[in-house]
Amino acid sequence: MPSIDLHDPTQSSFFNVINNKLTTTKETRQAVNPSTEELLEPVPVSTQEDVDKAVAAAKDAFPAWRDLPWEERAGYILRYADAVEVNLAGLQDLLMKEAGKPVSNAAGEIAFALSHLRETAKLKLEEEVIEDNDERRASVRYVPLGVGVGIIPWNYPVLLGFGKLDAAVLSGNTFIWKPSPYSPYTALKLGEIAASVFPPGVVQVLSGDESLGPLLTAHPDIAKISFTGSTATGKKVMKACADTLKRLTLELGGNDAAIVCEDVDVSKVVQKIGPMAFLHSGQICMDIKRLYVHEKIYPEFLKALVEVVKSLKVGGAGDTEAFLGPVQNSMQFGKVCDLYSEIPKQGWEVALGGVPESRGKGFFLPPTIIDNPPDDSRIVVEEPFGPIIPVLKWSDEEEVIRRANNTNMGLGASVWSNDIERAQKISRKLEAGSIWVNSHFELAPYVPFGGHKWSGVGMDWGIVGMKGWCNTQATWVRKAI
Ligand code: NAD
Repeated sequence: MPSIDLHDPTQSSFFNVINNKLTTTKETRQAVNPSTEELLEPVPVSTQEDVDKAVAAAKDAFPAWRDLPWEERAGYILRYADAVEVNLAGLQDLLMKEAGKPVSNAAGEIAFALSHLRETAKLKLEEEVIEDNDERRASVRYVPLGVGVGIIPWNYPVLLGFGKLDAAVLSGNTFIWKPSPYSPYTALKLGEIAASVFPPGVVQVLSGDESLGPLLTAHPDIAKISFTGSTATGKKVMKACADTLKRLTLELGGNDAAIVCEDVDVSKVVQKIGPMAFLHSGQICMDIKRLYVHEKIYPEFLKALVEVVKSLKVGGAGDTEAFLGPVQNSMQFGKVCDLYSEIPKQGWEVALGGVPESRGKGFFLPPTIIDNPPDDSRIVVEEPFGPIIPVLKWSDEEEVIRRANNTNMGLGASVWSNDIERAQKISRKLEAGSIWVNSHFELAPYVPFGGHKWSGVGMDWGIVGMKGWCNTQATWVRKAI
């Protein structure tokens, strides 16, 4: 298997990957290491010409790739996983640097991403027989669309990229991966590795600035956009895809509620909920973002939660003990700081953290817990996407369900109780694409995930996600003329 030495200066340059060739662009740009605010290496800024070349290569490669037996395509994905694994250490370093991930988070993302490739390679879309009698057979099969594009945000650059690439390519599409301008590095290296495994044109990776996404959504030879990012951008993507009637999956923002009932063992539950609310410094679509705690246990719960979150170390990329890293980029840092600045203005009670007095290098913010703010406050209504959450008091079951659902978002939601039946009853009334009882943010490569309401359209992952990379074809066979 090829190994890329990311510490070798000749290999620490970054290229687009088109038709299995490493290509450069006239202009380049540099992203920023969020732990230090230092500039990282130059990366390509793709133009219309680069997009046209990538689409043409993917379009040319499509018929032969589609016609390969399913098992052969699965074999390529497994060999890709092996080739990625050879480069694990270097890729992990790169991910820590560009995404501001402490070691445990970067290692966790890459390990899950690898298992995503391997688990997805085991899946298969089978023909479904609907009717079969002496006269006729009617069935449904799933046929690939053509050239697919994955547009990826900066928070989970590898996992979210692989989660689209593997399903697209396994089901017979060819693929263009567009990473976020804030975190393009690992994706570009993964593109180089893909070029050493897949036939030319099957996988391309294009880096660029914010003009690149619209070039892809407008391109007439692209059949599908699978987009993960903010709800605001998702709406733009949906509008742009209408002109060419592209197939579309949208994985958008969240504002996940967790409802904690009065019968839980507080000391156990805070150990789980604390990290789940602050994982990747709150920059995960499915982090717990509104925490509703029953009034009977509220004071005890809040106190215990503060202790748990206090024990989570904040540190930069490479800090082996850190749990929380920095906010990933200056744009997001500005947005989250604006929310922190509301604390004194709105008079929110602070249980932990609060507005930082000063700041050094790196986009770090103290983990912050707001004690029972009003339901209509920004910290409850908006997705903070930073290390700050509100804890809210509840007393009546129907009322807390209404409050949890009182949002345009519908990504995930959880209920915590020792009474599983009661918890399930509550959870089934929650309007979200994933609902959990006594956990949150539990995912598996073969279980679909996606959002209801403004959190998305369609689903990624598993058989359901893979069907999204295909057209459904009804096939009719008359057994005699
Ligand atoms: P974003 O919407 O700003 O950008 C996402 C991607 O879209 C980037 O690659 C960006 O370059 C590209 N883009 C920007 N404008 C575009 C346009 N007009 N057309 C096409 N592409 C365009 O999101 P972000 O700030 O990178 O990510 C944070 C958001 O992503 C949060 O809201 C978070 O909840 C959401 N998210 C959702 C999921 C999910 O699975 N539902 C997962 C992770 C993140």
